[in-house]
Amino acid sequence: METMTTSENPTAPDAAEHSRSRTSEAVAARADRTAKHDESDKRRMSERRAEQEGRTQVRPTAEGWTQAMAPDGRPKLEFKSKPRVSQPPVHLADLSLPERQAKLKELGLPAFRAKQLSVHYFQHYTTDPETMSDLPKERRSELVEAMFPTLLTEVKRLTTDNGDTIKFLWRLFDGSLVESVLMRYPGRVTLCVSSQCGCGMNCPFCATGQAGLTRNMSAAEILDQIVQANRVIAEGGLKGGRRDGGHDAERVTNIVFMGMGEPLANYKRVMTAVHRMIDDAPEGLGMSARNITVSTVGLVPAINKLAEENIPITFALSLHAPDDELRDELIPVNSRWKADEAIDAAYNYYRTTGRRVSIEYALIKDMNDHAWRADLLAKKLNARGRGWVHVNPIPLNPTPGSVWTSSEPDVTDEFINRLIDAGIPTTLRDTRGKEIDGACGQLAAAE
Ligand code: SAH
Repeated sequence: METMTTSENPTAPDAAEHSRSRTSEAVAARADRTAKHDESDKRRMSERRAEQEGRTQVRPTAEGWTQAMAPDGRPKLEFKSKPRVSQPPVHLADLSLPERQAKLKELGLPAFRAKQLSVHYFQHYTTDPETMSDLPKERRSELVEAMFPTLLTEVKRLTTDNGDTIKFLWRLFDGSLVESVLMRYPGRVTLCVSSQCGCGMNCPFCATGQAGLTRNMSAAEILDQIVQANRVIAEGGLKGGRRDGGHDAERVTNIVFMGMGEPLANYKRVMTAVHRMIDDAPEGLGMSARNITVSTVGLVPAINKLAEENIPITFALSLHAPDDELRDELIPVNSRWKADEAIDAAYNYYRTTGRRVSIEYALIKDMNDHAWRADLLAKKLNARGRGWVHVNPIPLNPTPGSVWTSSEPDVTDEFINRLIDAGIPTTLRDTRGKEIDGACGQLAAAE
């Protein structure tokens, strides 16, 4: 039942389109009725299973806002920037070292200046011409203007967790607002970065999706979030102030693409940014690929492409429900690629790269946290093999009292224990920055 594929599913868009173009209206109407009938049958199944556990089944509904719908009556999906939006000016971080050298040549400067500028940006985190004493004084401002156009302007900075978490709200050149969150843990510093202005994936529980997608962020806009965070750390912005040795002592070590946007819908720029993160300094930031996590709603062709890149980054799939019945409503892109197809792609990522993948699962009270769903998830993961995956449940960042509330502690424990008992490594993710609107897109939405 839960493993329906696209071809078996009468409500899948392909099947629906097919029937509309080839059959008379009467037949199409009958097909619609059958689809609706099947839909309510499936719902009854899910409600029955919840009842057997002495639980209820809450359905995902948008609260306080209206979910944008496509002409086919399904939640709208946007894979492209809105028409007529422009991209930010080209920045040094968009360019490879040879491209930087070529640009400087155009400006009538020797190639070695490219390296000097790169050191200022990627190693000293500065774009202030005053500090660039190794560059000819009379050309500094011009160079900075040409190579370092302002990409991110700080609008708001919120600190919490005793100074170990900082949330930034940035304004981009066109007024778009994006967020990043800096989190210090023992032995690592993680930055959660945004990859798009808004998001076109329209997941009803996520604040970012509500306004849709404005545009893709450029590679340099993605990277500048890291460089700015490194500067803040160097200036003593995290608790405990500056560690001995200045900026080299502590910097961002881990990146998660779990801020605003769907990274795999902005594939090319995200990959340029990833390359620049792992390129040795001063071409890039010299970070470890293993410490970079790309998280996706499940764009299957892009996941398969990522697997072929030959870069050992970490992959995470936002599954949130193992059954298509619920996932169709929770993750609108499930109308394109079903839960099983997304899990297959995650498994393929593991097979191709040898890197264990993560499954993200936001635990939402009475919606996706039933014991039978934990069992089904374990069954589906184990059916593909052992040792290839771990599950990362995270309590939903809630709006208390709405249908979107995080699971009760005992239900959370039960869910996790069932997975562990089935042999699936499972760890509850902590929720940093809850009291500063830490959830995806909440800060930008409030502005
Ligand atoms: N678009 C990508 C990455 C951005 S969101 C993706 O979907 O994976 C990063 C993670 O935060 C995803 O797993 C997303 O489902 C989750 N998320 C979004 N809103 C949330 C909320 N209110 N509470 C908990 N997790 C949330």
